[in-house]
Amino acid sequence: MNYYSTNQSAPAATLQEAVVKGLAPDRGLYMPEEIPLLPAGFFSEIVHSGVTDIARSVARALFGDDIPHDELARIVTDALNFEIPLVRVEEGLYALELFHGPTFAFKDVGARFMARMLSYFVQQQGQEGVTVLVATSGDTGSAVANGFLGVEGIRVFVLYPSGKVSDIQEAQFTTLGRNIVAVEIDGTFDDCQALVKSAFMDEELNRQLNLTSANSINVARFLPQSFYYFHAFAQLARLGISREVIISVPSGNLGNLTAGLFAKRMGLPIKRFIAANNRNDVFWEYLQSGRYLPRPSVQTIANAMDVGSPSNFDRILDLYSYSHEAISSDISGYRFSDGEIESVIKRVHKESGYLLDPHGACAYLALKESKRAGETGIFLATAHPAKFKESVERCIGEEIEIPEGLATFMKKNRETIQLPSDFGSFRKALINLS
Ligand SMILES: *Cc1c(COP(=O)(O)O)cnc(C)c1O
Repeated sequence: MNYYSTNQSAPAATLQEAVVKGLAPDRGLYMPEEIPLLPAGFFSEIVHSGVTDIARSVARALFGDDIPHDELARIVTDALNFEIPLVRVEEGLYALELFHGPTFAFKDVGARFMARMLSYFVQQQGQEGVTVLVATSGDTGSAVANGFLGVEGIRVFVLYPSGKVSDIQEAQFTTLGRNIVAVEIDGTFDDCQALVKSAFMDEELNRQLNLTSANSINVARFLPQSFYYFHAFAQLARLGISREVIISVPSGNLGNLTAGLFAKRMGLPIKRFIAANNRNDVFWEYLQSGRYLPRPSVQTIANAMDVGSPSNFDRILDLYSYSHEAISSDISGYRFSDGEIESVIKRVHKESGYLLDPHGACAYLALKESKRAGETGIFLATAHPAKFKESVERCIGEEIEIPEGLATFMKKNRETIQLPSDFGSFRKALINLS
């Protein structure tokens, strides 16, 4: 299947080109030319299927023309090596826990899948290796670094602003070694992003190192996120529920929500989606008014959703042929302040014992406000609460336990390369280290 650019002025790309390039040459986002409808047999069997079987079927429908089926099955199985349970929180309301992967956040799914698909294509091209550059303000770096850890033919440089990521986040990408190099930049996240951008524009450097990005706009990162919407539905179906299902998604760059909308187009009977924003409410405003006004982000307690210009917005517009009416009838929007997020973490913990992280809490709140009688709601729990230990403990007034996997990161030796924020130093370091 070919991929077109949302800006409509780039040539169609194969899956391989779309994955290796990331962004289309006209700066648009790649979209599959067709969205396959899954056969009725898939849905009648779904109740008996586990996450890997479901993901293999969906992956085959999306990518099966471009990758041999046995390779694709291997990529899926390798990527999804953890549980994604649906947990009952209260009557008619469930959490889809996406945080049981290596970095305890949902980005593991997309990052692990993309790493393996990219590695497959690099080998197909007969290239010796590629270099992935990623700038991070925290969570993306850990998911990408861990996703690519030990993957053949790929070396990863994670650039992060010195002193501006949390302790847990830093531990997750500076302790890995092997093919992962952490670069601590004396500057801001924007400086890190600017360095990555300059590197991509440097033709000679590109030739020498085969640079590629692991950005969330890559089709190999966002499309696999559709797998777990089917898996959530299957788990509900096992409880005898398959109608009037609504899903609430804590949203920042809108990659997760877009993947859910794709699942619906592939035939998954979801009645309505809910986009939950924090105070960064650009998408909420669009849903209300049809006006899209990107602006600088503001800092909140749910910081992985602090996005002022959501990168997947154009994909949603394209999917619905730019109809605000169509978009706002499939998706309802909510937004919450830090105070509202904090008090719901406290209340839910007290009433049901379930511990929300600030992102999941935002989605839970949106679901509560949106859900009508007779509907069953799922919210996506995108991170383990221990990743936001201080904030969550402040809400509930007690200490929480750090899972063993996270604690292990914290104990390991950290290794970083410290650099000033000028491109010359960064360029030299890249060449020396490659
Ligand atoms: C990235 C992230 C989000 C936002 O997901 P998008 O796909 O960018 O909308 C929500 N929660 C957590 C924990 C995240 O890391």
